[in-house]
Amino acid sequence: MSPIEVKRRKFLGLFFLGLSLRFSRAYNSISMTNLKDTWVSVLTRIEPTIQRTHFVTWFQSTSLVELKNSEVGKVAVIGVPTVFAMDWIVGKYRIKVLQAVQEIDKDVKDLEFQVVGIGGVDVSQISSRPEKKARKVRNKLEIDLGNGVRSKMLNERYTLDSFISGGENRLPHAAATAVANVPGGIYNPMYIYGGVGLGKTHLLQAIGNAILKDDPEKVVRYITAERFVSEVVEAIKRGEMNRFKGRYRDVDVLLLDDVQFFAKKKSSEQEFFHTFNELYEANKQIVLTSDRPPSELEDLDKRITSRFSMGMVTEILMPEFETRVAILQQKSSEAGMLIDPEVLEFIAANVTTSIRELEGVLRQVIAEAQIEDRVPTVKCAADVFKKLYRAKEIIGYDIEKKRLDRSIMTSRDVMEAVCCYYRVTVDELVGDVRKKEVMVPRQVCMYIIRHELDESFEKIGEDFGGRMHTTVMNACNKVLKKIKKDSRLIRDINAIKKEIGL
Ligand code: ADP
Ligand code: MG
Repeated sequence: MSPIEVKRRKFLGLFFLGLSLRFSRAYNSISMTNLKDTWVSVLTRIEPTIQRTHFVTWFQSTSLVELKNSEVGKVAVIGVPTVFAMDWIVGKYRIKVLQAVQEIDKDVKDLEFQVVGIGGVDVSQISSRPEKKARKVRNKLEIDLGNGVRSKMLNERYTLDSFISGGENRLPHAAATAVANVPGGIYNPMYIYGGVGLGKTHLLQAIGNAILKDDPEKVVRYITAERFVSEVVEAIKRGEMNRFKGRYRDVDVLLLDDVQFFAKKKSSEQEFFHTFNELYEANKQIVLTSDRPPSELEDLDKRITSRFSMGMVTEILMPEFETRVAILQQKSSEAGMLIDPEVLEFIAANVTTSIRELEGVLRQVIAEAQIEDRVPTVKCAADVFKKLYRAKEIIGYDIEKKRLDRSIMTSRDVMEAVCCYYRVTVDELVGDVRKKEVMVPRQVCMYIIRHELDESFEKIGEDFGGRMHTTVMNACNKVLKKIKKDSRLIRDINAIKKEIGL
């Protein structure tokens, strides 16, 4: 080799070494700066190691919030959509996640979890597996039933997406989603209980709709306990008990509504007990609803009620104000009617017993406005409310003076609570700083003052350093829009309101 050739090779060697060093450093810094890409790499490592359905259920909408330095060393902060998902990931996958993170950044020593609401990575695209082949056509009975069940028994309006979950109802919704993703999994049976008109049937059928959407060949059967009882009676009368049994034992998913109706119906209860056991043992998903917890189903056999509690028992409660407003917003847009948020808030403030009533009042308000060919107003909603419930006291509306009622709370009280909550000063809050840390509290504060104290946009503008009323209006609208998607914001607003007794 000539001396020139040796030099050239040395040069090239050094060049490539330099390049590869730079490349590996660049790679590290990319993974540091681009949190989303890093998180996708982590998920790509986790995905092949756990069941697909579990992966999608628990890692959907997760994110890497930050990599921070702490006393123990570098910590990866993982964002999760719900407390429920957080408990699961921490309980079952913590080590897996940590190992996957360390494969990408070996300096990470620990993980932290934060509930950050929806957002994060859509994991549906992360897959190391070949597409699932279409399943063979199943026997005729099942197909008939499957199709029949779908079109006849499930209301397609009841979906997991159209169920607005907020605050208290996050858990039942998250659990229903988990069941729909992994039918026959750990939440079997699932038992949903709660008062009338709070969305039990909606959630129950939403599970069925979601499972069928995922796999139209699944045999899903929805039935009320009342109807089950009459089917049993009918089958006994006609001597067709075997056919009856076959019909239920061939299902993949049994959705049984209002089990409290089994009380004192001994033969139906027994029949159900056998069906339940067979399905359960075959890992078929069973979802039940009732107006009370299993322990209070006094007239039912203890052997049955104890089985109801073996999987997941979850209570559905009346959602709090913000969620009620979000539900009304959704229902009014479903009805194709744009309604002033103030009217929706008025209804949400006054109807506190059930979502069915909430819908009823809204429907009536829309109907009356349509008949009279005008837009719904708070006054009109107050009239409907008075008529339907003979109410003497209406929150937010002064019957005597026929105008909105003001609370004794002042804007200043709200400002102080907001500042304390977000750790900003009142000067910053009313000032001009446009940093996110101050803008969000400012908007939230304006929103609470407007919606809870019914203060005018002009007055709020004055209180906030002489801003235009349109600025305040925009801020309030922004919050109203964000509330729909941002569970954290709802929690923040609720916490502040609670603090000042609103
Ligand atoms: P239940 O079975 O508990 O008596 P339903 O499921 O029949 O109540 O619900 C009554 C009505 O309220 C239905 O129209 C349902 O769509 C609606 N609803 C209840 N909860 C919600 C929710 N969280 N989001 C949207 N709609 C809801
Ligand atoms: Mg119901």
